[in-house]
Amino acid sequence: MKAPEVAVLPGDGIGPEVTRAAVRVLRAVRGDIECSEGLVGGAALERGLTAYPAETRDLCDRADAILFGSVGLPQYDGKPLPERPEFALFLLRRDYELYANLRPVQVFPGLEDASSLKPELVRGLDLLVVRELTGGIYFGQPKEQRTVEGVDEAVDTMFYRAPEIERIARVAFEAARARRRKVTSVDKQNILETSRLWRRVVDAVAREYPDVRIDHLLVDNAAMQLVRRPSEFDVIVTENMFGDILSDEAAILTGSIGTLPSASLGTRRVAHGRFGLYEPIGGTAPDIAGKNVANPTAAILSAALLLRYSFGDDANAACIESAVERTYADGLRTSELARATPALPTQGFTEAVLERL
Ligand code: NAD
Repeated sequence: MKAPEVAVLPGDGIGPEVTRAAVRVLRAVRGDIECSEGLVGGAALERGLTAYPAETRDLCDRADAILFGSVGLPQYDGKPLPERPEFALFLLRRDYELYANLRPVQVFPGLEDASSLKPELVRGLDLLVVRELTGGIYFGQPKEQRTVEGVDEAVDTMFYRAPEIERIARVAFEAARARRRKVTSVDKQNILETSRLWRRVVDAVAREYPDVRIDHLLVDNAAMQLVRRPSEFDVIVTENMFGDILSDEAAILTGSIGTLPSASLGTRRVAHGRFGLYEPIGGTAPDIAGKNVANPTAAILSAALLLRYSFGDDANAACIESAVERTYADGLRTSELARATPALPTQGFTEAVLERL
């Protein structure tokens, strides 16, 4: 049987630094997993290749999962999308139909003060945003700018088909079963037809999960409740654009973008789970790249998600998560979170996590 394999695509900026940390942690718990590196984003463009070269695609096709850093370099800003590093992510999401974006948002004990909300509002916060990633207004047609009778105009189209809603709803309900059994579906059904369909399909799926509580919130109210009573949420499921906005709002509750991992799951099945792409939610952070100060937590926790969803290995995923939690509980911090305490560099923080595995 083929050895389990992970395609490691570090990318640009802090991507290589934090991905290296994640690979060290992954290999410490699962020495049997082969990690093969590929070029992606600006790192590939700088070598005269495309942002997602054919060799990298072959590597991903072979692999059970992708551990991704981040892509994007300032010198490509303003270029058309196909010439930018970020085009690689677009192609990866499309090729592997990565329709389910999962973003767990957790405030680790000891980090409550880092949040922009009052510590008592975020203490123990642990929610999961499930965002539909391949449909909705970001992809619907027509989508264009045009001039009609001498006037410039533009159109985007929000479009959903019931099966797209059904499959993302299922991801949310399954996830809720392994958590506190509560799903909040977010839409704008007082205005949008796509939202009326969304609510109807989510309710139909909910009937298959009588053990999970379902609530519906309008997106404007959800945005408010996220900062008013965030700890009441368990799983939030929503369409692409609402999810884009709400998941960033949820992320900021934790105080550092450097702590938050994500999983993007596709339709492909692999030996022990689902094929997926795992990456920190933050970008390439050009302001701190190469300085060994980036927080590797998001990348390390992305490796934990990879084990859970693509390798069905909950035990080692939980082992990594608990090591990270203990590192914070012991007062250790990277520079963006350190206040009075001396900060650990990327590598030092990684070693602290490795010691606690
Ligand atoms: P960013 O997330 O890179 O940086 C925002 C701020 O957060 C910066 O101050 C940065 O230093 C800080 N930060 C981010 N990650 C951190 C970490 N691990 N530890 C400590 N601090 C961290 O967002 P941006 O500045 O808007 O984007 C920079 C580049 O990244 C752009 O080219 C953008 O297109 C790209 N980007 C890529 C992805 C991705 O690959 N999925 C996602 C977002 C942005």
